[in-house]
Amino acid sequence: MFITMITSECAPAAKVGGLADVVYGLSRELEIRGNDVEIILPKYDCMRYDHIYGLQEAFRDLHVPYYDQWVHCSVFFGFVHGRKCFFIEPHSDKNFFNRGIYYGHQDDPGRFAFFCRAALEFMLKTNKHPDIIHCHDWQTGLVPVLLFDIYKYLGMSHPRVCYTLHNLKHQGVTGEFILNEVGLNHAGYYLNNDRLQDNFNPFAINLMKGGIVYSNFVTTVSPGYAGEIMHTDQGFGLGHTLHVHSNKFGGILNGVDYNVWNPEIDSYIPHKYGIGNIDAKYGNKEALRHKLLLRQELKPIIAYIGRLDHQKGVHLIRHALFYALEHGCQFVLLGSSPDHEINNYFRHLKHHLNDNPDCHLEIGYNEEMAHLIYAGSDMIVVPSLFEPCGLTQIIAMKYGTVPIVRATGGLGDTVFDADFAHKPYHERNGYVFHHFNYEGLESAVHRAIGMWYSYPQYFRELMKNGMRYDYSWNHPGQHYLNIYEYIRE
Ligand code: ADP
Repeated sequence: MFITMITSECAPAAKVGGLADVVYGLSRELEIRGNDVEIILPKYDCMRYDHIYGLQEAFRDLHVPYYDQWVHCSVFFGFVHGRKCFFIEPHSDKNFFNRGIYYGHQDDPGRFAFFCRAALEFMLKTNKHPDIIHCHDWQTGLVPVLLFDIYKYLGMSHPRVCYTLHNLKHQGVTGEFILNEVGLNHAGYYLNNDRLQDNFNPFAINLMKGGIVYSNFVTTVSPGYAGEIMHTDQGFGLGHTLHVHSNKFGGILNGVDYNVWNPEIDSYIPHKYGIGNIDAKYGNKEALRHKLLLRQELKPIIAYIGRLDHQKGVHLIRHALFYALEHGCQFVLLGSSPDHEINNYFRHLKHHLNDNPDCHLEIGYNEEMAHLIYAGSDMIVVPSLFEPCGLTQIIAMKYGTVPIVRATGGLGDTVFDADFAHKPYHERNGYVFHHFNYEGLESAVHRAIGMWYSYPQYFRELMKNGMRYDYSWNHPGQHYLNIYEYIRE
């Protein structure tokens, strides 16, 4: 099959969060299974160009309709760790993708609407007729709308569209003028409840809703989250739309790329290990302490890695830090936030704890350090308010690092409580709490610390149980192929 991913992120070249990992890992798995996969991205100035190999101009003069004008674009081709990627670069005083950051500007909906149009125009002009177009999140929600209302009539009648929802919090709700920008000229037609009209604001359009309504199949990143966004307020207004389209909607748990995240071959960690020689993990613990100037003592290290966002339970992360320090643990945090206030808060906290030999806060994004923290820590805490899938707990388990999570979305689908899960002990792999408050968090962290100190042999079993789970792309890769086959028929 010929599959084209249209996406705003692909790891590690253009990564903000899990979406990037999914695009990379799924594409790789699909290729291993004999499919031809191409990825179309914006050409951001802030990408990690050191992860793009052989970057060269592939198509010089792409003229993309923009209101009643054209924007001249160039398209580049390069390999991102083996994946074939096209990068669209508009030459315009709008400066679409040269902003130093990926998201966070007021005209984000306009920037990515333009990207959707440009991606399809590129496919048309280069005669690309994939069997499947797979697009992701609100940034590419207009792709199926443009395909079925414009490009189908220009000769692109072949592709079917699979659309994956990674996070319903961000839907691309914007003014109808965006439609004129990309040539969808009958705004009244689209501003209709059955099409793109936002379910809260009748005067706004919702780009994610467009993706849901117009795609041939819609997926989200875990079965748990699929249920939550249809039946609870986690749908942020799109629950009804998902109900209407429930016959083409399902949840598929994300995989993790075990070529990147695997302590047996991880080049970023000094001591390789696996389930058979788990003791070598403690060499990494020592290395982590050495790097972060933590004291060497018989104590567990609890870590947090991730965005510092309201979604992630910022106040619970902070609480976990102090709770850990007060209960005989060390704490390591690696994270950053686009929100200056949150960032400054954690910088302040870092300053306050600067002399504490049991604690290190690293504010920023650091892929290399993330590997060492996963390998060197004993536990990782993920106290999210909501979590579509969550990769940190899955990666941590592969590294024998026991997750302590709140039961929401994909966290509930992947972590099974050491004390209370309805599973035999050899299938339990972490600690789970339910209430999004201090007491909830403490109930799980307390049990985890107690187990580490009092029953180390059981704790070790828990580590091994997590390492034994197969959360690779093997199963989800097959699920996606089944969906592609289904919508081609
Ligand atoms: P989300 O997509 O909501 O950000 P996920 O858990 O799905 O969260 O994915 C997070 C991914 O980003 C993981 O691969 C994690 O290791 C990585 N990550 C998050 N923050 C950082 C950071 N500050 N430095 C390095 N890696 C990070």
